[in-house]
Amino acid sequence: VTILGIESSCDDTSSSVIRDGVMLSNVIASQAVHEAYGGVVPELASRAHQQNIIPVVAEAIKRAGIDKSELSAVAFTRGPGLMGSLLVGTSFAKGLSVSLNIPMIEINHLQAHVLAHFIKETPEDDHAPSFPFLCLLVSGGNSQIIKVNAYNDMEVIGQTIDDAAGEAFDKCAKVMGLGYPGGPVVNRLANEGNPNAFTFSKPHIPGYDYSFSGLKTSFLYTLRDKLQEDPDFIEKNKQDLCASLQATVIDILMNKLRKAAKDLNIKEVAVAGGVSANSGLRDAFLDHAKRFGWKVHIPKFSFTTDNAAMVAITGYYKYLDQQFCPMDAVPFSRVLNKLG
Ligand code: ATP
Ligand code: FE
Repeated sequence: VTILGIESSCDDTSSSVIRDGVMLSNVIASQAVHEAYGGVVPELASRAHQQNIIPVVAEAIKRAGIDKSELSAVAFTRGPGLMGSLLVGTSFAKGLSVSLNIPMIEINHLQAHVLAHFIKETPEDDHAPSFPFLCLLVSGGNSQIIKVNAYNDMEVIGQTIDDAAGEAFDKCAKVMGLGYPGGPVVNRLANEGNPNAFTFSKPHIPGYDYSFSGLKTSFLYTLRDKLQEDPDFIEKNKQDLCASLQATVIDILMNKLRKAAKDLNIKEVAVAGGVSANSGLRDAFLDHAKRFGWKVHIPKFSFTTDNAAMVAITGYYKYLDQQFCPMDAVPFSRVLNKLG
């Protein structure tokens, strides 16, 4: 079974070929145009997708060393994401499906982030989590705890009621003047700072849900108050600010994850999404593995942020279940509670 994956939910145009679960290619074109605006500009994103999609798909097929006639199906991200961006990938997938006479498979972007753990780079690769497992999905747009029962059966048991973890990093970084996206910069500076230097507020909400807007406000107020005393406060303290911010985000994330793992008695725990690139979060996972006997799964950096290999691997498992979609499938922008 050979699947072509297409990802265009946000600001990365990507295409990948996966054969029987093994990745043959994974091409990603990132969009630099947004940096100047300090965030993704939807209209610019969809235009860039239009420019990139044909060369990116052609390159993915070429690097895979296959002919397009060998494709069994085309898998595309249907949502959630930016409507204009999703439309480009969806329309392209339809065209390809008709011209090659192969079925289409719709992919939930969040299910794909989770199933990134199953991408094999060589046939011998054997690092996949076993079912059931919990997955902490932390990205630019989402923070969720997902109970994964099978490839195509996963439920969101907790999620953010306001900002995502990545958004908390990005917004706080922005007010410190650290550029966009701020997450990686905060991570780098945090490595040189004291995580106990500042205390920011943590949410008190029931269940497994998250909230990061209070932390953001508390961070802002700290800056505002300290800047009145010393205009150079940020410059002098940015390492400590970043370390304390990062420690607070990780603490919030791990508290609910620990609670879910304990309540559901699941020790197989994975992390996915762009924020899983964070070294402090990775360390927290390794620490929990030791302290609580968790078997933890941390993805390779290249599979944490948006990529089409995760779309193609999800397409592969949906293909095995014969889950195809009709030609009139339209993108959706909002998160669904049931994945797969
Ligand atoms: P979604 O999948 O929810 O639609 P997205 O695809 O835009 O969102 P990702 O690409 O998965 O999000 O992740 C991007 C986010 O990851 C950004 O908020 C970025 O700041 C954050 N991020 C990346 N690297 C790090 C890091 N080392 N530390 C903290 N955050 C990071
Ligand atoms: Fe994503």
